[in-house]
Amino acid sequence: MPFGLLKYGLRKTYPAERHFPLARDLKPSYDVVIIGGGGHALATAYYLSRDYGITDVAILEKGYLAGGNTARNTAIIRSNYLTPEGVKFYDTSVKLYQELSQDLDYNILYSERGHFTLAHTDAAIRTSRWRAEVNKHLGVNSELIGPEEIHRICPVLNMSEDVRYPILGALYHPPGSIARHDAVAWGYGRGAARRGVEIHQLTEVTEILQEGGKVKGVVTNRGTVYANKVLQATAGSSSLVAKMAGFRLPIRTIPLQACVSLPVKPFLDQIIVSGSLHVYISQSSRGELVMGGSTDPYGVYSTRSTLDFKEGLLGHMLELLPFLGEMKLNRQWAGMADMTPDFSPVMGLTPLENYYIDSGWGTWGFKATPVCGLTMSYTVANNKPHELIEPFRLSRFEEMKQVGEKGAASVGH
Ligand SMILES: Cc1cc2nc3c(=O)[nH]c(=O)nc-3n(C[C@H](O)[C@H](O)[C@H](O)COP(=O)(O)OP(=O)(O)OC[C@H]3O[C@@H](n4cnc5c(N)ncnc54)[C@H](O)[C@@H]3O)c2cc1C
Repeated sequence: MPFGLLKYGLRKTYPAERHFPLARDLKPSYDVVIIGGGGHALATAYYLSRDYGITDVAILEKGYLAGGNTARNTAIIRSNYLTPEGVKFYDTSVKLYQELSQDLDYNILYSERGHFTLAHTDAAIRTSRWRAEVNKHLGVNSELIGPEEIHRICPVLNMSEDVRYPILGALYHPPGSIARHDAVAWGYGRGAARRGVEIHQLTEVTEILQEGGKVKGVVTNRGTVYANKVLQATAGSSSLVAKMAGFRLPIRTIPLQACVSLPVKPFLDQIIVSGSLHVYISQSSRGELVMGGSTDPYGVYSTRSTLDFKEGLLGHMLELLPFLGEMKLNRQWAGMADMTPDFSPVMGLTPLENYYIDSGWGTWGFKATPVCGLTMSYTVANNKPHELIEPFRLSRFEEMKQVGEKGAASVGH
């Protein structure tokens, strides 16, 4: 249990030490430059410095630290995926999350809730059974349960048969959790900065310098920076940045919206997902209901939120939890989801020799933050892909070796 707050309360001198050293001038060159300052970049820098002693690292973020999708997600963490490759990868992340507050000495408010994927059709029951069997085979706690068991664990759900989509069963995943997304980024950022990693906000990469199939450095709005290795971790802008590096990604970028209610007393422990109704809901530690659904119907680079989304989502929500009719919404927002054809990420080496990629994070990348840091730091340090991300290589699309996770990653995130 982290005691930072208690220690701060008992201190005689204020203010407390800053989380990150103040921004300074960019050096002319670094060992490693990371484009993007979200959770994945910060986690990679943390493990690079901690596990490989690589500390001459600059994180270049065009906006403010972790202000992209890391700030906008609904914080669901789980590993009940469909493919063995996906389950192993996300399960490693869940295990890292379980120890992360201690590891970073920073309370990330990790809260294990149990995760329900509701099944309203026979086809959904079949997929749930399939996922449960794959999960169990790989040691992940998931099972298909029926309506009585659902009602026993989560009595607030509307189990009536007199609705458009009665609940026939659910894939129940007890380790499903939520955490404080900002804390995850700040904890990793602080850990990396303490080991010497430089974090530069308001620093946009506008060009990627190359020679003979190798990257030499990047041009930014604050000048040119040379680097031995460059990692792109720019969820929501992956195709735009890869284009600067001279290669294409099979990604469509589509807005993803979410909203929260005003806080109310805790009544919902679990995380509830319904694919047929296109909704998911959990209750945060502050009491707000955190709600979202699937991506917008069309791709556009914009983080505006819409009335359409709100009306559709809340109408469906009321079928599951009809007593929420008087609940007031507090705010809504959107982020940019980089969707891949198979709903799995694109990670590892690229056509450029010393240029690495962590992308294709669609609607599902918050839960992967620790495992991305772990595997991308290995990949950058050793110039070879970590075995857990080998299946997510860019070339899988031309090899027709997709890792199909649509059944497990769409609305459920
Ligand atoms: C509404 C919503 C709900 C979600 N819910 C969940 C969920 O419940 N569970 C889950 O697992 N995932 C969820 N996700 C997905 C998750 O948020 C992302 O996959 C994850 O945060 C990606 O993290 P990242 O560090 O890769 O990217 P980001 O946090 O987006 O960081 C990328 C950074 O790159 C910067 N950047 C871009 N271009 C440049 C440039 N040229 N130069 C410098 N910097 C640049 C951006 O400013 C940004 O800060 C959700 C996403 C949204 C939008």
